[in-house]
Amino acid sequence: MEFIDLKAQYQALKKDIDAGIQEVLENGNYILGQPVKELEKELAEYVGVKYCATCANGTDALQIALMVLDIQKGDAVFVPSFTFYSTAEVVSLVGATPIFVDVDERTFNIDSQKLEKAVEEVIQEGKLKPKAMIPVDLFGQPANFDEITRIAKKYNLKIIEDGAQGFGGEIRKKKACSFGDISTTSFFPAKPLGCYGDGGAIFTDDEKLHELILSIRVHGKGEFKYDNVRVGLNSRLDTLQAVILLPKLRAFQEYELVNRNQFANLYTAILKDYVKIPIVSEGFLSSWAQYTILLDSQEERDFLQVKLKEAGIPSMIYYPKPLHKQVVYKDYNFNLEDLKISEELSQKVLSLPMHPYLTEETVKNICDKVIQIIGEFRNGR
Ligand SMILES: *Cc1c(COP(=O)(O)O)cnc(C)c1O
Repeated sequence: MEFIDLKAQYQALKKDIDAGIQEVLENGNYILGQPVKELEKELAEYVGVKYCATCANGTDALQIALMVLDIQKGDAVFVPSFTFYSTAEVVSLVGATPIFVDVDERTFNIDSQKLEKAVEEVIQEGKLKPKAMIPVDLFGQPANFDEITRIAKKYNLKIIEDGAQGFGGEIRKKKACSFGDISTTSFFPAKPLGCYGDGGAIFTDDEKLHELILSIRVHGKGEFKYDNVRVGLNSRLDTLQAVILLPKLRAFQEYELVNRNQFANLYTAILKDYVKIPIVSEGFLSSWAQYTILLDSQEERDFLQVKLKEAGIPSMIYYPKPLHKQVVYKDYNFNLEDLKISEELSQKVLSLPMHPYLTEETVKNICDKVIQIIGEFRNGR
């Protein structure tokens, strides 16, 4: 059994993907070719924003967003502590300071009350300028953008939505990757919409920001590539990845997102009386980058993972260490009291196999095993 079955997806889409690849090989326009422009157009339409620029990966997408917004040394950028490292790494990379905020125990997304408190604290301390925040759509569910947008307006902060896992999610029919001043996603193979290598995209409704994004992704170009007007990156999408993503985006819209939700609902229906199941807020839709359950203790979680593995069922721990506990941030001072949910989650979460090519039978078998193993643990083995 695969945790995410990319091979099954390839078999389903093989004809279109192979034909696309063959065409690129014969046409020879390997970087930012015409299919990349088509893809950007389709992505922007799907998400419901005016502009989309693809780039080399989801981390670059975030870095470019920070560069475009001129975030630099002396600036504070608020990020959740329970996320993948990129979200904070890029803040450090541009010389600014990530301020770690705890997450909500129900949704695992940034806690808006603690976010507002953290902004107030940074203002009071007076050492850093609060400039932006990077809420993450963790495991596929959009962050609480009603509250986040209110806080951003109140304190004049920019929002960069990290939609690396969130592509396809919705809040009241409005799509993820449309909630930030700039929003980003990743096409790393295991993400809800993945390519066959690295890739990413940057979304915005603001024409000026979009133009800066286009410049920065190609060495800070001006009128043309050899007219260099600012410091940029080399961060472009290969044409090969675009022809892989185009049929995948269609399958994603036609049935993959629906399938993910069906399998998530089935997991939830069977497991809800045994473990804490993921909670999707009223009016929200998740794209289920992960289906993540919460166990009663670290011992129970670890026991379950070992026993599942023995039964041939893969599972993953996202994430075993919150960012404020990472070695790279060991010298930072944090209000540790306020980050306890992130710490607790890192000890108790377990992600189960999730992808659009599961079957009901497989999900039921996984659930039976989970229930059986937890029963063993709770009855003293
Ligand atoms: C995967 C991921 C990224 C980085 O994307 P890459 O394409 O791997 O660079 C950033 N943020 C989050 C939350 C992610 O899950």
